[in-house]
Amino acid sequence: MPQAPSVQGAEPKIAPKPAFKKLQVSTMATVRELAEKMVVKPSEVIAKLMTLGIFATINQRLEGEAASIVAAEFGYELDVVAMYKEEELAVQASLKDPPEKLKPRPPVVTVMGHVDHGKTSLLDAIKSSNVAAGESGQITQHIGAYRVTTPKGVVVFLDTPGHAAFTAMRARGAKVTDLVVLVVSAADGVQPQTVEAIDHAKAAGVPIIVAVNKIDLPAANPQRVRQELSQHGLLSEEWGGKTIFVEVSAKKRVNIEGLLEMIALQSMMMELKSNPDRPAHGVILESRLDAKKGSVATVLVQSGTLKVGDPFVAGLAHGKVKALLDEHGKRLIAAGPSIPVEVLGMAGTSQAGDVFSVVTNERQSREIAERRGVVAREQALAHQRHVSLVGLKSQVKSRAVKELNVVLKVDVAGSLQAIKDSLETLSTPECRVRTIHGGLGNVTESDVLLASASDAVILVFHADTEPRASELASREGVEVRRYEIIYEVIADVKAALEGLLEPEVVDVVVGKGEVLQVFSVKDGGKVAGAAIREGKVVRGCMAKLLRNGSVVHQGKVVSLKRFKDDAKEVEKGLDCGLSLDGTPGYQKGDLLEFVVTETRTRRLSDAAQMK
Ligand code: GDP
Repeated sequence: MPQAPSVQGAEPKIAPKPAFKKLQVSTMATVRELAEKMVVKPSEVIAKLMTLGIFATINQRLEGEAASIVAAEFGYELDVVAMYKEEELAVQASLKDPPEKLKPRPPVVTVMGHVDHGKTSLLDAIKSSNVAAGESGQITQHIGAYRVTTPKGVVVFLDTPGHAAFTAMRARGAKVTDLVVLVVSAADGVQPQTVEAIDHAKAAGVPIIVAVNKIDLPAANPQRVRQELSQHGLLSEEWGGKTIFVEVSAKKRVNIEGLLEMIALQSMMMELKSNPDRPAHGVILESRLDAKKGSVATVLVQSGTLKVGDPFVAGLAHGKVKALLDEHGKRLIAAGPSIPVEVLGMAGTSQAGDVFSVVTNERQSREIAERRGVVAREQALAHQRHVSLVGLKSQVKSRAVKELNVVLKVDVAGSLQAIKDSLETLSTPECRVRTIHGGLGNVTESDVLLASASDAVILVFHADTEPRASELASREGVEVRRYEIIYEVIADVKAALEGLLEPEVVDVVVGKGEVLQVFSVKDGGKVAGAAIREGKVVRGCMAKLLRNGSVVHQGKVVSLKRFKDDAKEVEKGLDCGLSLDGTPGYQKGDLLEFVVTETRTRRLSDAAQMK
């Protein structure tokens, strides 16, 4: 017969978790600053960071996500406030302009393709077509971009062909290009860098127009180009697809107008708009030191209008616009959205891809640049910036769909396909492997830039890394892993992905019982005298109270007694006194199910079953 336990012995109910306390910190706060604000020891923060796989020193600045995660561990929700005005500037740029303020702007186009397929020739041909269109004077200055007037409006071309320039910008967070013109020689067809260009454009989400070049050559076979590109997801309109193909000869100046018209047409459909009526915001396209002019940079204005006299910041540089020059060497007093201009009046040098923003006054521009300088120097000493296989979990913790982007460089085509296929079969609905680029040969700078821009790891199989690519990878914090055995590539990626899987939480029924008697206790509460029929009951476990086959209450077993003594668990065949969380109102004959929640590490094979 079970004894009536006293409620005094019952363990306190678990209080609901307190809401997170808000804490204001500045961007890139150091470990010390964060610890001081949370009133904990810096060593505790460091220890907590370690459990997250981040090894930080006391003066290290924490990037947003790491700071937020560690603060949450101490019960704080971070409210990150702009310290260096960078966010404010970014916010200004992304502020939703009211629709009536938006005006159409010209498209910005990058020409990409395999070496020698005619990128430079095409850019030259387009430049000279401009003169025929009646533009005053020839394009004489190389400022990194130029405008062309077509019957359907202005088109802006970036004057640096190639993928490195395109992706270097993206790696620095600047989206510059609206449209990619992919040049493919009709005589040579699709080549490795053609595929690379497609991957870069796709990774950036930029539409592609194909220029089938060199159609003047006897060996030209434009249909073959269509056929080969269809295998890379570019199906021509004639074949029922969506991609515009234009046949041209850059050298013989054939159908350049046709290409321009298609570019203008495609851009019209994209309805590119921007607000010209606010302080300018843009991107640095090129930057150099001129013996006479000093520090000179080309800015592509993206929104707002840049005027002579405007104070600005651009990366670590700042200044006040002394003069604006266009691609004809002509002085302008202002430049609106999509217009490339050379800016004079910069102190310090900026880099291609730096964000350019007009600020309120010169003092502010100087202060922001100085503070950025301090942060940049500290960051230069810091850690890996990009995803790595080992640190993957803590870095992607907060993303909804967990993705591992991979750039794959392999010695032969056969292994490329094999590895790509095996990696992709590892994907589950929860975490995906995405090969954003797969190519043959050594790792190049272009691969590293793509990986950096897309937060990818580079996996190398039976190939090497070019010295400059290797340098760039360590500068950009991109992980490059080299393998000799396919199995090891797969095993490493698999292990990394398993780290991404949320552990599975399952309820396991550990025992069953029956209520034999109900006792009242001093404060008016009730205790059930029960017999354990199967398994066991564990104090603290969850219990379901069932009556006539349905669950009438669920609660934690807050007290458990054998006779007068507290018991940790009571096994099958024994009687006990127990009470559940809440006020269930037991009845004789009620059944009990005792449930324990288990956390199980999941393997990819389990996750795959969810597909
Ligand atoms: P890039 O490396 O892609 O910039 O290619 P280039 O523009 O430097 O061109 C490579 C070579 O192809 C040069 O010798 C050009 O003269 C030649 N080329 C470019 N376009 C054409 C074309 O339409 N027809 C012919 N026959 N040759 C071309």
